[in-house]
Amino acid sequence: MTLEFTLTRNERPADDAVRAGVLAEPGFGKHFTDHMVSIDWTADGGWHDARIEPYGPLQMDPASAVLHYGQEIFEGMKAYRRTDGSVWTFRPDQNAKRMQRSAARLALPQIPEELFLEAIRRLVEVDEAWVPEGGEDSLYLRPFMIANEVFLGVRAAQTVRFMVIASPAGPYFSGGVKPVSIWLSREYSRAGKGGTGAAKCGGNYAASLLPTQIAVANGCAQVLFLNEEGTDLEELGGMNVVLVKADGTLVTPESDSILDGVTRNSLLQLAADAGHTVERRTVTLAEWRDGIADGSITEAFACGTAAVITPIAALRSTEETIGDPAAPAGPVSLALRAALTDIQYGRADDPHGWMVQL
Ligand code: PMP
Repeated sequence: MTLEFTLTRNERPADDAVRAGVLAEPGFGKHFTDHMVSIDWTADGGWHDARIEPYGPLQMDPASAVLHYGQEIFEGMKAYRRTDGSVWTFRPDQNAKRMQRSAARLALPQIPEELFLEAIRRLVEVDEAWVPEGGEDSLYLRPFMIANEVFLGVRAAQTVRFMVIASPAGPYFSGGVKPVSIWLSREYSRAGKGGTGAAKCGGNYAASLLPTQIAVANGCAQVLFLNEEGTDLEELGGMNVVLVKADGTLVTPESDSILDGVTRNSLLQLAADAGHTVERRTVTLAEWRDGIADGSITEAFACGTAAVITPIAALRSTEETIGDPAAPAGPVSLALRAALTDIQYGRADDPHGWMVQL
């Protein structure tokens, strides 16, 4: 299912010099393109009024459900420009399907995959000049869905809006890939059994902010969450985690309370293609600790759309440090990162047909 999109052009787009200035140093999530997509949904009428409009503030009734009960989900993906000027995105079907799973958990309507993809296509088409070139720059795409029914009763909203906004993004690592230390959260969990951990909903991120502040106060880049019992690895505030063993095996947590990362799935596929054994299973904190101590674990990395792979030098907590905070990036992490970014930027063959031209 798809819809006709109406286009209302921004009469006052950023002028060429302003846009060039942003693209020269985009940072992350600070600057937005000239347009945005909105599609409305009502319980009795389904999806309707697909439109591209000038980017700008929303007018919202203060009684809108999302402002009170957090009925909201989102996605994160990127558009990449190749040296021939063409613009591509990576496995958008995976983001569309994940958004449907998130919607199911948050009692939001499921946007059809084709409509999701068409929304991305149309926005990138009208704002193509905002897709940066070169290096590891990209146009970050943020589809999201909010319950905008004006009603304070606690139940699933009957009116919802799906939107897409876009923001040029610079390289995550400007001075080359740099390993980070990660803080182990002992006090706080991100998710529990039967909770919303596997959904990409705003509330999960709200819950991660305080533990992340503590991580940063301790000189760490991000926080690692364990399961409720405090025994098994789950994931970082915004990335999945993978351990690399000396024999080349990659080990990553299997859990129904973590986000099913598109980057992780893709890296593990590339690793398997390259002959690595891949294990998705319960991974205990003790296994990481013991593996570093006896040398059977040689690398750890975090992975997600934003940075692709961030090597983890050390896992720190008030009680212990696992690994060496000064350790350099490991060869497996660097090779996998290069393999995936080469596919994304069209520098290598795409054996799984992951890239979609926009
Ligand atoms: N876990 C969490 C909590 C995240 O926010 C993200 C980023 N979307 C990921 C994992 C990695 O997911 P992906 O590879 O799809 O970006």
